[in-house]
Amino acid sequence: MTDGPKYGFDTLQIHAGARPDPATGARQTPIYQTTAYVFRDAEHAAALFNLQEVGYIYSRLTNPTVAVLQERVATLEGGVGAVCCSSGHAAQLMALFPLMAPGLNVVVSTRLYGGTVTQFSQTIKRFGWEATFVDFDDLDAVKAAIDDNTRAVFCEAIANPGGYITDLDAIAKIADAAEIPLIVDNTSATPYLCRPIEHGATLVVHSTTKYLTGNGTVTGGCVVDSGTFDWSANDKFPSLSAPEPAYHGLKFHETFGPLAFTFHGIAIGLRDLGMTMNPQAAHYTLMGTETLSLRMERHVENAVKIAQWLEKDDRVDYVTYAGLKSSPYFDRVKTICPRGAGGLFTFAVKGGYDACVKLVNALEIFSHVANLGDARSLIIHSASTTHRQLTAEQQRAAGAAPEVVRVSIGIEDADDLIADLDQALTKAVS
Ligand SMILES: *Cc1c(COP(=O)(O)O)cnc(C)c1O
Repeated sequence: MTDGPKYGFDTLQIHAGARPDPATGARQTPIYQTTAYVFRDAEHAAALFNLQEVGYIYSRLTNPTVAVLQERVATLEGGVGAVCCSSGHAAQLMALFPLMAPGLNVVVSTRLYGGTVTQFSQTIKRFGWEATFVDFDDLDAVKAAIDDNTRAVFCEAIANPGGYITDLDAIAKIADAAEIPLIVDNTSATPYLCRPIEHGATLVVHSTTKYLTGNGTVTGGCVVDSGTFDWSANDKFPSLSAPEPAYHGLKFHETFGPLAFTFHGIAIGLRDLGMTMNPQAAHYTLMGTETLSLRMERHVENAVKIAQWLEKDDRVDYVTYAGLKSSPYFDRVKTICPRGAGGLFTFAVKGGYDACVKLVNALEIFSHVANLGDARSLIIHSASTTHRQLTAEQQRAAGAAPEVVRVSIGIEDADDLIADLDQALTKAVS
């Protein structure tokens, strides 16, 4: 079976991209643990290297196990193609790489994963790229931040960790008017809760490390292309529209149409940057995608119960979860992620930084780790860990103030999780 719009999400998460192995009939996708692939003859090899024929050359570029995952995530997101890579951070670079050049910039939301803030505010400068950070609730400020050198707008659908939902439709309109792509990091929402392409996103990036894999086993990333952007409308995107010297002057957009970005990602991005996903990682993530909808439903159900319980507790100052009526983003859930606001939220503990440290130490079921989107419940004190590199101002803007802990609610029994939080809060606030 292949994919197709006639199938629902639950069917596609198991079948999209996969078919019985043509050599053996194996029903589950084999792990093609190989570096290279035998060419039929010299002409076949030449055609593959010239991109005149699609096929397998070398696993830095393509691998059949990874290819199944690429097609699966692309289908679940409603895109035309996807490129998997070694981590979510690799995916962000792979998304920006074809668009950017020294002197160019990307306009990004202040509400981002801490590692992304560091990647965008520090590391990409080494490439001569700049990121302009803006409050994405201030649409005029987003418009004003875009200049002639801006090549993309970047945000998260559900922003980690502050319980924030981006008004993707409004941001997509601004990007459209500026003739630049909107890139949405959909890691926290997953395509089960939010489909950014339906809200106008051009590209969707994932850390597949998180919910798509769903059990904390492997790191990975993915860039999905909607296939809808006209890269040749002007001269802003020469990597995709102009002749490519490394392939005898081939123009990616002219040659590959809606698949231009995906082909570029493989033929240039993976070939030259080498941030490749390995077939073992693809296998674990494929196993994860098969149960994505079931897990996300439980993550959301548990998160709502626990957030409501915490909000009523006097040892807690406030809870920021868009699934709570008290959240300023509660109404956006209906339009952006109608199946729920995800499994992540933060809460502020009375007693500040020290109480947070005590709480984290006293929990028994929750694990203190720098990860999210696992089947098991996780907690982290962002200010002393993931958001440590940020200034106090950046920490607050990202929803990671010193008195705040972030939880990634797992799929265990909600009552057990509540009991665990209850006993730990008693030890933390006394
Ligand atoms: C984890 C994460 C990333 C980075 O992904 P890695 O796989 O750790 O490189 C990016 N964005 C979000 C929202 C994340 O949660």
